[in-house]
Amino acid sequence: MSVDLARTDSPHVAIIGAGFGGLAAAIRLLVRGYRVTIVDRLDQPGGRARVFKEDGNTFDAGPTLITAPFLFDELWELAGKRRADYVDFVPIDPFYRIRFDSGEVFNYTGDADSMRSEIARFNPDDVDGYERFLKKSERIFDVGFTELGHVPFGKVSDMARIVPSMVALESYRTVFSLVSKYIKDPRLRQVFSFHPLLVGGNPFSTTSIYTLIAFLERKWGVWYAMGGTGALVKGLADLIEELGGAFRFGETVNEITVAAGKATGVRLESGEHIISDLVVSNADAAWTYKHLLGPEHRRRWTDAKIDRSKLSMSLFVWYFGTDRKYDDIAHHTILLGPRYRKLLEDIFRNHELAEDFSLYLHRPTATDASMAPEGNEAFYVLSPVPHLDSGTEWATKSEQYRKQIEKYLERTVLPRLSEHITVSRTLTPQQFLDDYLSLKGSAFSFEPILTQSAYFRPHNKSEEVEGLFLVGAGTHPGAGMPGVLSSARVLDSLIPDAE
Ligand SMILES: Cc1cc2nc3c(=O)[nH]c(=O)nc-3n(C[C@H](O)[C@H](O)[C@H](O)COP(=O)(O)OP(=O)(O)OC[C@H]3O[C@@H](n4cnc5c(N)ncnc54)[C@H](O)[C@@H]3O)c2cc1C
Repeated sequence: MSVDLARTDSPHVAIIGAGFGGLAAAIRLLVRGYRVTIVDRLDQPGGRARVFKEDGNTFDAGPTLITAPFLFDELWELAGKRRADYVDFVPIDPFYRIRFDSGEVFNYTGDADSMRSEIARFNPDDVDGYERFLKKSERIFDVGFTELGHVPFGKVSDMARIVPSMVALESYRTVFSLVSKYIKDPRLRQVFSFHPLLVGGNPFSTTSIYTLIAFLERKWGVWYAMGGTGALVKGLADLIEELGGAFRFGETVNEITVAAGKATGVRLESGEHIISDLVVSNADAAWTYKHLLGPEHRRRWTDAKIDRSKLSMSLFVWYFGTDRKYDDIAHHTILLGPRYRKLLEDIFRNHELAEDFSLYLHRPTATDASMAPEGNEAFYVLSPVPHLDSGTEWATKSEQYRKQIEKYLERTVLPRLSEHITVSRTLTPQQFLDDYLSLKGSAFSFEPILTQSAYFRPHNKSEEVEGLFLVGAGTHPGAGMPGVLSSARVLDSLIPDAE
């Protein structure tokens, strides 16, 4: 599948957004003979995976854990190239170090023996349950990922077809409920149920399909892109340019234009009309319908339906450098706060910014010294917080909240942190709205609950107008790098090769 760059008559696709979904869609369409223009309002590719560089530190703004590397490899293979020639992946061990508020630590790895002994340290009775949980996770993976993750859910019959397997796999249960069926220790229940938070879901309401992540990690591992996730983004963007794709950075799409029920292109804020045969939106799905496609073109995704939908939580992220090393901190640390279920209720249901938090601490310098000046560390720490329905004025709250986190880190894992900070910047829910145009500042688009999954999510092939397709976190299958790469893969079965 090669691209004839001399062709000027091949159909043109306008892609809104250069997040992983948009980048993957561009590669797939380019190798299938389309001309592609990607428009993004940021000044660089990657979307949430953009990069902040400051005083010799490189901060990946968003995703850090690569869990299905083969989905990236496949993009290069489609173009007849090798991912390893563009970016190196290295395995991370442990996958996560989970620290409870009590100070106890659980090292979560991909090694069966060490997992068994970690579990036994907490509760020997749960070792068997864990083995059974992992087998269940594999069965869920076989259906949820292998069979369903890459196919469109455009028709009610698509949904009806999978209902029997979903019932058999207990998809009506939540992640926490399924984990609790196999594991009794309250601390281990947290260890094996937090994963939906990585894709914007509350373990107490996310469908148990998401327990497939446990098997996905065990089978393929957790990886890091040397140079950071930004190096992976750069590799994909380079590949797109080699294939003849064009980027337009710093431009915002204000409208998807439509004639006779068919998408005809995108209109930019500047007024420029980019005409295209197809439009692929990698912009926030809720935003795409609410703000880019006129109400006269929408029957299903009306403003009222979007306003009724549940959007995922947001995140507060603090990026900081230190002029000393913290050698004993793992690459990925999860610091669980004093509350679990109640904190998640505050975030997802009450939309209330709580006094306490649970944190994820990223230390890329544990693996890759190039991310900070010599002798320094580059960290980020994120706290799941409610989206903008909380009413929090982040412009005034941000610094106070950051300080609270700094104090907590200083007290728990980063002694004397406040004396060693070199650079500091934050990303608040308000910036998820202002920078990425994500409705209510949600970090992961529609919440992954059963009634908002598969057929019930905005479809990959728009239900509203011909020639409009959706990729990214808000469409099927959902958020996270594996999810958004799969959304682009679904397009292969919906869009024919260019003639
Ligand atoms: C802090 C953080 C950490 C995460 N960690 C992980 C992780 O470790 N592993 C993992 O797998 N996932 C992780 N995720 C989730 C993952 O990053 C996202 O689900 C995924 O990157 C979203 O990709 P996307 O294709 O939906 O596009 P996005 O990244 O959302 O990009 C969409 C782009 O479209 C642009 N855009 C929107 N509207 C317009 C418009 N009208 N005109 C022009 N441009 C527009 C936006 O500015 C943005 O650049 C994390 C997310 C965050 C925020």
